[in-house]
Amino acid sequence: MTGPSVLIVEDEGSSRRALTDYLDRRGYVSYEAETAHEAMRQWDAHRPDLVLLDLGLPDLDGVDVIRRIRREATTPIIILSAREDERDKIGGLEAGADDYLTKPFAMDELNARIRAVLRRAAGPDADSDGCLRLGPIELDAVKREVRVSGEPVRLTPREYELLKVMLSNQGRVLTKARLLRAVWGLAYADESAYLHVYVGRLRRKLSAAAPSTSLEGLIETEPGIGYRVADHDSLAAAPASGAGASR
Ligand code: CA
Repeated sequence: MTGPSVLIVEDEGSSRRALTDYLDRRGYVSYEAETAHEAMRQWDAHRPDLVLLDLGLPDLDGVDVIRRIRREATTPIIILSAREDERDKIGGLEAGADDYLTKPFAMDELNARIRAVLRRAAGPDADSDGCLRLGPIELDAVKREVRVSGEPVRLTPREYELLKVMLSNQGRVLTKARLLRAVWGLAYADESAYLHVYVGRLRRKLSAAAPSTSLEGLIETEPGIGYRVADHDSLAAAPASGAGASR
């Protein structure tokens, strides 16, 4: 499994390459964009786990990129701003960016911020390390790894995203349209056949990783509506089936 994917939006070539080099060495997968239009195209194509965004871009304002992403997703965005961009930076945070760094910044500081926003982005169901757990399933949102009973599972980016959205919504019913919007974008809200195929593939991969582990009851199909996700805490609190006091 590869590390978290990061879209780097920066028009200044040497800064962009320095960021790419650093992130690649740290195990991230990086995509690059020099303009706002290219950023939106790359974001649509890859749905990265995180966006690093320079606000001063040659075509549109970086804040427009934030608004565009926020219409569809909660993907973490870190602004990389120059001192003179102070007002834009506030506009960017108001438009939904998660954090900012003022140039020049130390790369290790950037890495610490990236890990912090990835941890938070895993949502309130995650533990303090950014791990989401549902029964034997474990998703580490900082390292971007999935395991079942400790056995690693290789997922495609969309499968990973689908599982992450499900594990971030424990104890809830997720409609098909909501999952499609969250993982594929607004244009896919009606493609429920598509979702059916992906959920089937995801279930098969999770089961195959640890064949002796039962995944029953963790992610249930709700016919005509979507999927019901069990809650890790109530699973842990409930007595194991057959061993309860009801006998
Ligand atoms: Ca710039």
